[in-house]
Amino acid sequence: MIKVLFSARPAAWDEYEAPLRRAFDAAGLDCDLSRDHAPQDTRYIVFAPNGPVKDFTPYVNTRLVMGLWAGVETVVGNTTLTQPLARMVDDGLTRGMIEYVVGHVMRHHLGMDAHLAGQDGVWRDTVYPPLAKDRPITVLGLGALGAACGQALAALGFPVTGWSRSQKQIDGLTCLSGDDGLTTALSGAQGVVLLLPQTPATDSILNARSLALLEPGAFIVNPGRGPLIDDAALLAALGSGQVGAATLDVFRKEPLAADDPYWSHPRVTVTPHIASTTRPDTAAQVIAENIRRGEAGLPFLHLVDRKAGY
Ligand code: NDP
Repeated sequence: MIKVLFSARPAAWDEYEAPLRRAFDAAGLDCDLSRDHAPQDTRYIVFAPNGPVKDFTPYVNTRLVMGLWAGVETVVGNTTLTQPLARMVDDGLTRGMIEYVVGHVMRHHLGMDAHLAGQDGVWRDTVYPPLAKDRPITVLGLGALGAACGQALAALGFPVTGWSRSQKQIDGLTCLSGDDGLTTALSGAQGVVLLLPQTPATDSILNARSLALLEPGAFIVNPGRGPLIDDAALLAALGSGQVGAATLDVFRKEPLAADDPYWSHPRVTVTPHIASTTRPDTAAQVIAENIRRGEAGLPFLHLVDRKAGY
């Protein structure tokens, strides 16, 4: 029997137990899934940072730690974690992120807020929104989520430029990389979607200098991570009109403090880190596939590069 330890918050067990058992059966894996295997017997760990395992030292026979989350910034620096770490790439998570990003981009693109706030019996002079083809959007981060969101926006007609660390080629997107690429990607953008991981290299990537490159009145959608944005610079850019609106799902400190200026800003929408989440049914299949690979001696999927931090 392959001993698989489930280490996440208690409520997650109720969500994941049945889908994991189904996925193991479907993959023909003889797995013993439990929340309390002895460390030396544990071959795989299904892991979330809010679960009981914090020290990986005793898990000497563990072949892979399989994160349930896409973001790994809270575990990647754990010095006791010497086992390989996989992050979550899940079709359900990706679909949820596409829906969130497309929804908020369309809302800002169509100027919906003005109509929602203007239901007051006054028939105003109509301002037609431009067509998507005339609204360049930039997506920072072209991984599992950024590439999928960029392609969904491109399918709606937006000219989409994406930026990543390594140079990519993705159908329908203009792909850039490197420092010059970032400047080009942001210059004249009317909307920016942040889907970078939180690493030392991405901290405050949206700052006074980079925000100044955008088309005045541009909107920001950040479902990536809070530290990608220099908050003081964003508030200043909102104040000057350089940024027209922002949808923020993630923050340097979560939960966002009740007196944070983002809550009361009329052109900021705060969502409480709900852009998307791992969906047990599809995620269980990814976990089963990685165990199948481990048992067959094949390379694992979605391994984290510890040095790069994601
Ligand atoms: P991936 O690891 O698949 O993609 C990350 C992308 O960012 C890659 O394209 C990578 O480049 C790029 N990148 C990383 N560092 C740099 C850098 N220094 N300069 C330029 N590009 C860089 O991650 P996902 O797409 O799966 O997820 C992205 C993030 O979304 C997660 O890290 C997490 O923080 C966030 N997230 C938020 C959720 C929410 O509900 N709010 C839910 C899930 C995820 P390259 O391709 O060259 O490696």
